Amino acid sequence: MSRYIRERYKGFQSYTPGEQPKEMEYIKLNTNESPFPPAPGVCRRLKEADMERLRLYPDPTGRRLKAMLADRFRVEPENVFLANGSDDILNFAMMAFNDDEDTLLFPDISYSFYEVIANLHGVNFRKVPLQEDMTIDYRDYCRDDCNVIIPNPNAPTGIALSLEVIEEIVKANPNHVVLIDEAYVDFGAESAVPLTKKYDNILISQTFSKSRSFAGGRLGFAIGNQELIRDLITLQYSTNPYSVNTLSLILGSAAMEEEAYYRKNAEIIQENRKYTAETLTSMGFEVLPSKANFVFARRPGMDGDKLYRKLKEKGVLVRHFTTERIQDYVRITIGTKEQMDVLFEKLREILQEE
Ligand code: PMP
Repeated sequence: MSRYIRERYKGFQSYTPGEQPKEMEYIKLNTNESPFPPAPGVCRRLKEADMERLRLYPDPTGRRLKAMLADRFRVEPENVFLANGSDDILNFAMMAFNDDEDTLLFPDISYSFYEVIANLHGVNFRKVPLQEDMTIDYRDYCRDDCNVIIPNPNAPTGIALSLEVIEEIVKANPNHVVLIDEAYVDFGAESAVPLTKKYDNILISQTFSKSRSFAGGRLGFAIGNQELIRDLITLQYSTNPYSVNTLSLILGSAAMEEEAYYRKNAEIIQENRKYTAETLTSMGFEVLPSKANFVFARRPGMDGDKLYRKLKEKGVLVRHFTTERIQDYVRITIGTKEQMDVLFEKLREILQEE
């Protein structure tokens, strides 16, 4: 760090983004992207897009896309917030809803970005350990003395909470904001968006990065009570008013017209997830019950880091985390059946070499 950096950032540990290597073609099962391309209509819209429009700033309100999302989720456009990826929503929510005397709760074993962004904004937080079986005990979050972030399904475990349980958490915290991070909700979990009509303290974030094959477009959205949404807009306009770019607005709108294509892909991913879990289990792995587009698995007696490195040498990238409790696990994104078959072939080779 330079000697000019602000005192408060000295020694700050930033988030480490998942590897995006360019030196060779890996089978890339490490950052939960979709193995399928954006819908044909999205690709067509890109080819036909009037590049002249890039001369102008984007529509800061994202009116057209917001209207489409509002229609899809049966809310009003004023209930929708657009952002540069859902990471950006987490960023604004962290800034908006946590006073100095507040504490934020989130699971210990969860998306590690929460901790980084909380530290960045000086937010007090407490990480609540998962239970022995890696599930969340919802009662830990029913105290009405803290704000809450829960990813549903959780990452990297993939385990989902039911809508009833989410409602219990929201009901138990009438004076605090409960943010449900639904980045992976389209792969079999229940969305809590309907609860936003009943409660003013729940905010949902979702993304185009996973089920809508658009991670490179950086497009996320939040749904919630209009006042919460206005708070997010205030912070967005005060940091980066044009944060969602013109191309992403155009292509995001095109994606909204292709729901059937994306729904079908999410179904294929769920079939491939079942196939993957069964095959890994037959190879001696323990696989957590996932409702996301990845599985979290370990093979007793096998070092997770070693497994990650051996697979990488063989051209398959998965994700390994150094956090002590999950050191022997790897997180494997669900790809096409062909990709998963290559993974199994490489795993069999590794097991034979042991
Ligand atoms: N939430 C969770 C739980 C995630 O795993 C991710 C992806 N790393 C995100 C949010 C952010 O996704 P994006 O910014 O691409 O929308």
